Amino acid sequence: MSITPQPGIMDIALYVGGQSRLEGHADPLKLSSNENPYGPSPRAMAALERSAAMLHRYPSTDHAELRAAIAEIHGLDAERIVCGVGSDEVLQFLAQCYAGPGDEVIHTEHGFAMYPILARAAGATPVEVRERDRVVDVDAILAACTDRTRLIYLTNPGNPTGTMIPLSEVERLAGAIPDHVILVLDGAYVEFTEGYDGGASLVESRENVVMTRTFSKIHGLGGLRIGWGYGPRAIIDVLNRVRQPFNLSNSQLAAAEAAIRDTGFTAHCQSENARLRVWLRDEILALGIGCDESHANYVLARFADEAEAMACDAALREAGILVRRVGGYGFPEALRITVGDEAGCARVIEAISRFKAAA
Ligand SMILES: *Cc1c(COP(=O)(O)O)cnc(C)c1O
Repeated sequence: MSITPQPGIMDIALYVGGQSRLEGHADPLKLSSNENPYGPSPRAMAALERSAAMLHRYPSTDHAELRAAIAEIHGLDAERIVCGVGSDEVLQFLAQCYAGPGDEVIHTEHGFAMYPILARAAGATPVEVRERDRVVDVDAILAACTDRTRLIYLTNPGNPTGTMIPLSEVERLAGAIPDHVILVLDGAYVEFTEGYDGGASLVESRENVVMTRTFSKIHGLGGLRIGWGYGPRAIIDVLNRVRQPFNLSNSQLAAAEAAIRDTGFTAHCQSENARLRVWLRDEILALGIGCDESHANYVLARFADEAEAMACDAALREAGILVRRVGGYGFPEALRITVGDEAGCARVIEAISRFKAAA
């Protein structure tokens, strides 16, 4: 007998995050991780500071106050909410509870890199389904479902594509998958869309849909790690059985509650993002670079080929700007650029213009 990890674990390739350091630039413009350029809400920061006096106390195990705040702001049922260490943890609970050796977990071609990692960590087999011109293809997902499928992870809007499918398509998918399959709607960027509830209404009308959301993007709390899931009570009850009772600290709970209640700040971030992402895309298109309409807080700039994308990335680094290479997501010819504040957007466009002019 030798010491060996569980099946699947050694097949996991380590997750590579967006870069945050740049040689020779003390304070680079970071547009590589879809962070909020306006930072967290001042109210969330104040709540975090106040929570310091409670560090000796164990936190709530049922997150009742945070769940009540989320339910109130989004008009949801608090009993169907589960909170996690980032939405990543909720996505992990789902794989842990519903997928194992011999089971299949579907994700799409350009989906989040965490999905195959979570599937393998549970001993299951990730199954990649192609997209059509950078848009999720519901029929292709349905065709990939088998007796072994347990979960479908779907990011809507997609990352790094920024494209989305309408609620009617999500609904069609939820209605057509086999009875033994859970559709997981990863809604990390839902707040940046217009008129899409992330699938919350579907969760309420069906037994097979779970939605995940995060405080990392629009609420600017990626460094604090808080997310949540919304699902049928039976599934939420299952997830709570594997959740550590103290998975979220007093500080996380307090900051998240203050953040979600600061609806004025959220609305400001939303409208600035909507305005600047249109401007950013128009400027990119004007430079002869491909770019789909985005429904999130980033755009995917598609260059002529991989060489041009890498050369532009190098030029941006030279200018102290970090964007995301997305070769690992099936786009070697593209760069994902987070929508910054107005100055940040202007700076990245100026740098790309200079790169194009020099080419
Ligand atoms: C950023 C992101 C998340 C959020 O992860 P957290 O663990 O909540 O920080 C989830 N899914 C996708 C597709 C993302 O891009």
